[in-house]
Amino acid sequence: MLKNYLLTPGPTPIPPRVLETMARPIIHHRTPEFQKIIQEVEEGLKYVYQTKNEVLIFAASGTGAMEGSVVNLLSPGDKALVVRGGKFGERFGEICKAYGIEFVAIDVEWGKAVDPKKIDDILKKDKLIKAVYTTLCETSTGVATDIETIGKILKNYEAVLVVDAISGLAVTPIKTDEWGVDVCVSGSQKGLMIPPGLAFVSVSPKAWTLVERSALPKYYFDFKAYKKALGKTDTPFTPAVNLVIALREALKIIKEEGLDVIFDRHKKMAFSVRSAVKAMGLELFSPDVYSDGVTAVKVPQGIDGEKLVKTMRDKYGVGIAGGQDEMKGKIFRIATMGYITPSDLIVCLATLETVLLEMGYKFQLGSGVKALEELLR
Ligand SMILES: *Cc1c(COP(=O)(O)O)cnc(C)c1O
Repeated sequence: MLKNYLLTPGPTPIPPRVLETMARPIIHHRTPEFQKIIQEVEEGLKYVYQTKNEVLIFAASGTGAMEGSVVNLLSPGDKALVVRGGKFGERFGEICKAYGIEFVAIDVEWGKAVDPKKIDDILKKDKLIKAVYTTLCETSTGVATDIETIGKILKNYEAVLVVDAISGLAVTPIKTDEWGVDVCVSGSQKGLMIPPGLAFVSVSPKAWTLVERSALPKYYFDFKAYKKALGKTDTPFTPAVNLVIALREALKIIKEEGLDVIFDRHKKMAFSVRSAVKAMGLELFSPDVYSDGVTAVKVPQGIDGEKLVKTMRDKYGVGIAGGQDEMKGKIFRIATMGYITPSDLIVCLATLETVLLEMGYKFQLGSGVKALEELLR
């Protein structure tokens, strides 16, 4: 018999209160009952986004909203600036390519963060750049980006700032309005604690002027259609009704706890995980620019990283993430986002120690759990 624990950076575990709402009978979406839900969800999203802008909701995984933030802002002949420091930054480049948008890339070594000054230097020279694509928390490397500083730089330019906050929202601060984030993209299965299937974007007045002019082809992700419907507390297509209802409950939980308490909790958990793995003699993949939502750890010499992750999952029921693409087998990642709690971390670290011991890694047994317990106390 196996009991499952999920400590992956999406999907993340779902609180029972949220799960229960999804088992209720379906309701129709063109009803006053659902309109009230849309209103509450919209208010809740504005709270977590820290914005007065509209937040549009799509029935898609997060990537749908990333695609939307390319096809709605740009036109043929426009250029983009894409910060690529991991798999998700690269995805923005792939989307631009798919739509024939030429882009300037800032390639950041995996595990490092972009120097905001580089963005300034490029924008100074290239006036054809209409949008800058960045990632709040690069989930593939565990790196956090200094969006606040980038936002200050962008205020001097016409280009809009797009931030992929899919794994950062409700985990680490993202002050959409105060920092000047024009389009903030997110998704449902990370900090928001509901299953995959919803994607979000907030759109600033500056970004709407680009949307009005944008001539790239689009249909399902046409922001204007969603804005128009939202004006009537409606949706342009059939929404993912039960996910929206689940989101309402998750947003209630978030509001009850309060954003600042949530940010502190994530910070403390991520710090504890970093300390615990270091106490075991392991090395962090991004020791200087870590995020509070996911910690990437180097697989020690002589250990098969893919086997480590697989054994934790199949033999002990503890799901963590391996490395992606070029980091496959070289790192593993432990999430501390959403409904992942300190007791989950104790199970995870104890299992990590057990499996590393089995695999022949030399360390002081119990050192990780001990460090964790001292800090979580
Ligand atoms: C998970 C994630 C995505 C991808 O979202 P999907 O829901 O898989 O489409 C994009 N960016 C970041 C930073 C993520 O963490």
